[in-house]
Amino acid sequence: MIKKFIRKILGKKEGANGNTEPVVLGPGQHKIDPKLVSSNALRVTQTLQDAGYEAFVVGGAVRDLLLGVKPKDFDIATNATPEQVKRLFRRAFIIGKRFQIVHVMFGQDLLEVTTFRGASQDNAPKDEHGRVLRDNNFGPQHEDAARRDFTINAMYYNPATQEVLDYHGGIEDIASKQLRIIGQPEARYREDPVRMLRVVRFAAKLQFTIEPATRAPIPVMAPLINNVPAARVFDEMLKLLMSGHALACLQQLRKEGLHHGLLPLLDVVLEQPISMKFVTLALESTDRRVMAGKGVSPGFLFASLLWHQVLEKWNAYKAAGESPIPALHLAADDVLEDQTEKLALQRRIGSDMRDIWSMQPRFERRQGKAPIKLLENPRFRAGYDFLLLRCESGELDAELGEWWTAFYEADPEQREELIANAPSGNGGAKRKRSPRRGPRSRNRGENGGGSGGSGDGGE
Ligand code: ATP
Ligand code: MG
Repeated sequence: MIKKFIRKILGKKEGANGNTEPVVLGPGQHKIDPKLVSSNALRVTQTLQDAGYEAFVVGGAVRDLLLGVKPKDFDIATNATPEQVKRLFRRAFIIGKRFQIVHVMFGQDLLEVTTFRGASQDNAPKDEHGRVLRDNNFGPQHEDAARRDFTINAMYYNPATQEVLDYHGGIEDIASKQLRIIGQPEARYREDPVRMLRVVRFAAKLQFTIEPATRAPIPVMAPLINNVPAARVFDEMLKLLMSGHALACLQQLRKEGLHHGLLPLLDVVLEQPISMKFVTLALESTDRRVMAGKGVSPGFLFASLLWHQVLEKWNAYKAAGESPIPALHLAADDVLEDQTEKLALQRRIGSDMRDIWSMQPRFERRQGKAPIKLLENPRFRAGYDFLLLRCESGELDAELGEWWTAFYEADPEQREELIANAPSGNGGAKRKRSPRRGPRSRNRGENGGGSGGSGDGGE
């Protein structure tokens, strides 16, 4: 229906993927609000056009504009070469090896300017699984469009004329809320398996359905992700987790049968119900923060995703006779070593994770100077937020979290009082065995409570 209607008003025939002529929508035919286009994006397209080049807003920004959403960043596509672009702007840097692009900076704002890419060449270097390794040729706009991933990501908007150029039926797919890969799905996933993660991310974020042919090959081809350099998978996964729809993404991955094998991390995370509860809470809180425009720390996120793996190893080390604190460090080492390799976790993120984990037993020491010292720790807030998640998931007694909240918010005098009245000894753990506990403590998993509890036995 919608397709027919659009074709009718535009007088266009449906084209194959080799489309060389775009459907062009004028300002009256789409609902883009020009005010949503950033002044810097206008500056860049205007400057390029004044110098005689073609220049468009492209990709996710056009998609978002058509959906009436303010884009979070603007990518620009042009027929100017990177060198030609660079010459036009004061702060412009050519970056990238696989494919050169130009970063144009205005204050803190960064715009990516990309030269139209040509059709991939059959002789482009590929790995043994068919993944394209390097492809550096420029080409006309219609070839650039055909190389993009999904129809809704392959439209061009010219702010000067307010026209949208659509080569692959993106407008129709926006209207019917569908994610459709451009070209032959198997071939496109083979060229770049990361597109399988992207389709899930966009489906969850935009609440679009995945068109059947785009969806069908994914369960079979998912293992190809393993051949992609870990750093790239990590970047894409971080986008997924920080999209503000992380939980929906994970649920979508499950629905698509992609939670096994696509990302080893998810296999680990989604195996146990208690772990799932913890991860769900962590992602809900991350999503809330992103939606509220607050910062999210990748360290906290990954510390949450991998916590139950740490917990399991920690308990194993303790059961083997190791003292609690060294046991926790050994467990953290094991998990970080394993995941750093698989995920290409950056060193800084790894060290943030370690800080958060190793702070945990210290929350169970509530005597003497220990609580004040912990409060002064520059990473206290992250460790405390993490503790609250543990309590909320039923792993630890709620009382411990409540005590720390009171302590955190109290004045010095009240703090002394809280310390004086704190349950002595092992914090959350001991009470786990108490018959007087409320229903929350019954929720605790096998691994629960045992955590830091015994860790401060000697304090
Ligand atoms: P977001 O709003 O999450 O940034 P986006 O669509 O802008 O979404 P980017 O990763 O910023 O996503 O990529 C910009 C554009 O580059 C995409 O819209 C798409 O046209 C193209 N693109 C990105 N990654 C790929 C890929 N793996 N294969 C083909 N085209 C891609
Ligand atoms: Mg983008």
